[in-house]
Amino acid sequence: MKRTRAARPSAFSDETGAGTIRGAVRLESMAVAEKSFKNYVAGEWIDAGSGETFESLSPATGETIGSFPRSSADDVDQAVSAAKSAYEEWRLTPAPRRGEILFRFGQLLTEHKEELAQLMTREMGKVIAEARGDVQEAIDMSFYMGGEGRRLFGHTTPSELRDKFNMSVRMPIGVVGVITPFNFPIAIPSWKILPALVCGNTVIFKPANDTPLLGERFVELLAGAGVPAGVVNVVHGFGGETGDRIVRHPDVPVITFTGSRETGVQVTKNGADLLKRVHLELGGKNAILVMEDADLDLAVEGIVWSAFGTSGQRCTAASRVIVHRRVYDDLQSRLVAAAERLRLGAGWEADTDVGPVINRKALEKIDAYTKIGADEGARLLTGGEVATGESLDAGFFYRPTIFGDVDPKMRIAQEEIFGPTTALIPVDDLDEAIRAANGIRYGLSSSIFTQDVNRAFRAMRDLETGITYVNAGTIGAEVHLPFGGTKETGNGHREAGQAALDVFTEWKSLYVDYSGRLQKAQIDTTE
Ligand code: NAD
Repeated sequence: MKRTRAARPSAFSDETGAGTIRGAVRLESMAVAEKSFKNYVAGEWIDAGSGETFESLSPATGETIGSFPRSSADDVDQAVSAAKSAYEEWRLTPAPRRGEILFRFGQLLTEHKEELAQLMTREMGKVIAEARGDVQEAIDMSFYMGGEGRRLFGHTTPSELRDKFNMSVRMPIGVVGVITPFNFPIAIPSWKILPALVCGNTVIFKPANDTPLLGERFVELLAGAGVPAGVVNVVHGFGGETGDRIVRHPDVPVITFTGSRETGVQVTKNGADLLKRVHLELGGKNAILVMEDADLDLAVEGIVWSAFGTSGQRCTAASRVIVHRRVYDDLQSRLVAAAERLRLGAGWEADTDVGPVINRKALEKIDAYTKIGADEGARLLTGGEVATGESLDAGFFYRPTIFGDVDPKMRIAQEEIFGPTTALIPVDDLDEAIRAANGIRYGLSSSIFTQDVNRAFRAMRDLETGITYVNAGTIGAEVHLPFGGTKETGNGHREAGQAALDVFTEWKSLYVDYSGRLQKAQIDTTE
């Protein structure tokens, strides 16, 4: 097994840079970088025991970004063992000190924001402005969770007995298994790893196999911020191998998982034998409601951003637009015109509006849904094909696609496509709109465009989603509010905000009797 020193410079680092983290942007090297990367275990960069690797490719060009260890169960076991040992010291590190490390991480992310965004647009494909937003979300989360180091509030309450003191406090749990998807390769790891750390847990992290380099840079910067060896470990690999072993490992009591509903069900089943705490953030089929009194220009802007941003690969993407019949034709024609103006291309090109989707399999799935929609009798208004052209042929590009006259029961209105496809559903009033919006298995995000405060409040109350926006699209969460969904989008947990702390801590109730005699709760009640 090859080992290298912990403070290994980044593949894209400025070799002359001083300090622990040397990650200055070297764009020209990125385009040609074909490097081999490692796991990070117990503060050392190591290969998989088997020496096997897999490659990460740029979805815009097909170029190889790098090769990564294809980790086996043994590699996972080694990382869990490192995280378990490190836990004993980390859980006793005062929470304010843990928070200070997160502040330093936030500063490092800020310094490296452009480098990470450029890397993201290459490895994951999203357009550069969105990539910067992805990194910014992690910066925000670092500072928010850093502050938790001086809060992590518990409760004090009166006792029912004299001379007795009651309080409840948050306790860390142990080793947290973090499994993330490809679509927010810096933001989502931050939503999980940073609250886990500030609460005193240690981490084994498996990034999506489509975006391993961003996962590796995330951990490299954490190490640079001062996270001690073993506290965060990264093991690269595939879900059914590396991910599965993390889920089943007996020394990993908490799994925090973001990904598809189908994988979430598997993860739940596989963790059930050990009664693990499994936190799931799964798919969405999010609706924008456009009422007859809506500002249509604003609505069109919100729909285009929510349906086609990140090429529709957001859990909160607006894949349904439920429109009052009185404005249906007008909205439809404006929307189609706006979609047809969008320029496809590599995310790093200044005039690109929509980047590629993540890989060929995704492209094929999206195209298969176009055929399903047409077979179901929906009207294809625009798009509906793989985008070709000189600069697009090497990548995975799909034309922004809009179906009209969609029935809410059609598969294209029920199933998550995870691509730049949206379905227009005509309705007669708000009640019908809400029924259609709620008539799905998912419950992540929703939005309503209306000028009527009564309609807005009814929608806020009745839409069965974890997040509802008024006069905005379905995307745009901020890190200090809870994030997550109802129904089959998850299993009742939330990430971000204070709610995240509940995933990563156990409540402990403490009773201190200073009466000097045995007082029996519920029995000595007469005094
Ligand atoms: P995915 O389910 O294919 O993979 C997610 C992660 O799980 C990857 O790291 C993968 O390697 C791993 N994995 C796969 N099989 C596994 C197994 N058996 N055991 C353990 N790990 C396993 O999802 P994806 O395609 O990367 O991401 C897209 C999905 O994520 C969409 O459904 C999207 O809605 C969802 N998502 C949800 C949220 C949210 O917060 N609700 C946010 C982003 C993405």
